[in-house]
Amino acid sequence: MTNARPLDLDALESTAERVLRAATSTAELAEAETAALGKRSELAGAHRTLGALDESERRRVGRELHELRERMESLAAALRLELQAKERSAALEADRLDLSEVVVADLRSPIVRGRTHPVTQSRDALEDVFVAMGFKVAEGPEAETDWYNFEALNMPPSHPARGMYDSFFLELGEPETIVLRTHTSPVQIRLMEAAVAAGTLPIHAVAPGRCFRRDTADASHLPVFHQVEGLVVDRKITFGDLAGTIEAFTTAYFGPEVHSRLRPSYFPFTEPSAEYDITCTICLGAGCRTCSNTGWLELGGCGMVDPAVFMACGIDPAEWSGFAFGFGIDRCAQMRHQIPDMRALVENDLRFLAQF
Ligand SMILES: [Zn+2]
Repeated sequence: MTNARPLDLDALESTAERVLRAATSTAELAEAETAALGKRSELAGAHRTLGALDESERRRVGRELHELRERMESLAAALRLELQAKERSAALEADRLDLSEVVVADLRSPIVRGRTHPVTQSRDALEDVFVAMGFKVAEGPEAETDWYNFEALNMPPSHPARGMYDSFFLELGEPETIVLRTHTSPVQIRLMEAAVAAGTLPIHAVAPGRCFRRDTADASHLPVFHQVEGLVVDRKITFGDLAGTIEAFTTAYFGPEVHSRLRPSYFPFTEPSAEYDITCTICLGAGCRTCSNTGWLELGGCGMVDPAVFMACGIDPAEWSGFAFGFGIDRCAQMRHQIPDMRALVENDLRFLAQF
């Protein structure tokens, strides 16, 4: 029997190679392998023609076909490794969290942005004003010992002024009385003790923070409220320095048309003491219902640091003098934004909060 049509092994090989190389994924490669090397492939067909050849020719062509198949199989294996690596890195890329991604708002359901609470905004603005005036910002613990909250502030046990503070006690007596601080004034004691220990007097500091009293919430009181405490300790500090600082803060924070007024008052830890009023922010002093037609609103208290407080902290009142003040941050927010009822600040009504 003679060869009517000799096998074109080169054409066979280039066809198989083209089919394999055309695969762009491991799934496509599996299909290409079936097409190029499977039972119905041209290569398998060529094997089946071997029987028609004479023996020596059959061996030669058979060996060449075998080698061709081996080359195609190793090509397929190499292509598979390449495609697997590509697919792995594509999967990793797809899994990566892009934290810088810009979310495009859908106008049918607009994205609602969160914002800072009006009390936080007021606290930040207050801090900015005092920092610009040269004050440092300090902090203290919210649960205090009796010493820091009362005794060092010239309120020994059974002092009648303790009755002014409806306190939340956490521990009574043994080993120590612990109270949720009723004001930010304990931070004064901590600042003075630390400055004496480190030899870093004078002090110019403000301490904003949360305070707690057993008040029933009403339009102008909350059981948890925010105060900012101020303390200046230096040589030759006078009441005039206190009044000037309060006035500078008032105009800087509320605006040039709002001023301060100090009225005589009493606090155990300051002597003399004063209540601190500001021009009514609603009528600007003309008189209205909110200010009971006085044109003034009460914001907080202040005074010259009592010598007994200095002595409790180990500071010589003959050498040093100073002033302290404290006022409500919630009250500041209320007056700055003319909020009629303070309870709105803690109700978390988004319709209210979204206005700030
Ligand atoms: Zn008014």
